[in-house]
Amino acid sequence: SNAQYDPNNVFARILRGEIPAERVCDSKHSFAFYDISPAAPVHILVVPRGAYTDFHDFTSRASNDEILDFWKLVDKISAEHSLIHHGFRIISNIGPDSGQEVPHFHIHMLGGKALGPLLS
Ligand code: 5GP
Repeated sequence: SNAQYDPNNVFARILRGEIPAERVCDSKHSFAFYDISPAAPVHILVVPRGAYTDFHDFTSRASNDEILDFWKLVDKISAEHSLIHHGFRIISNIGPDSGQEVPHFHIHMLGGKALGPLLS
């Protein structure tokens, strides 16, 4: 178990179906949906169904099956949404210095235009 995890965070509520989200794709252990405030023409969020606060928590506590399922879903989305043809960006905010807002591990998939330099 993870005592740090807040089960009422917004992505936990989306996973439980308590608040709506625009579904992109899902798998046994993972779920993908559109960001409510897109920062690029394509802005998809991918989350594990399990209760993990951030990338480190996920990588250290999730099963190999959950971890493989997650990254395979990311790759599948990149193909199905034509992101791989023009390129795209993956970002995960981890902890306070990153400005992580939602304490449920997620990655942002950003694409659909030339994104420019990450650091500017
Ligand atoms: P973070 O800063 O935690 O990496 O990013 C959280 C992301 O979740 C933000 O890009 C924000 O727009 C998105 N977000 C926050 N609340 C909701 C929501 O209720 N639904 C959806 N689809 N996205 C949300």
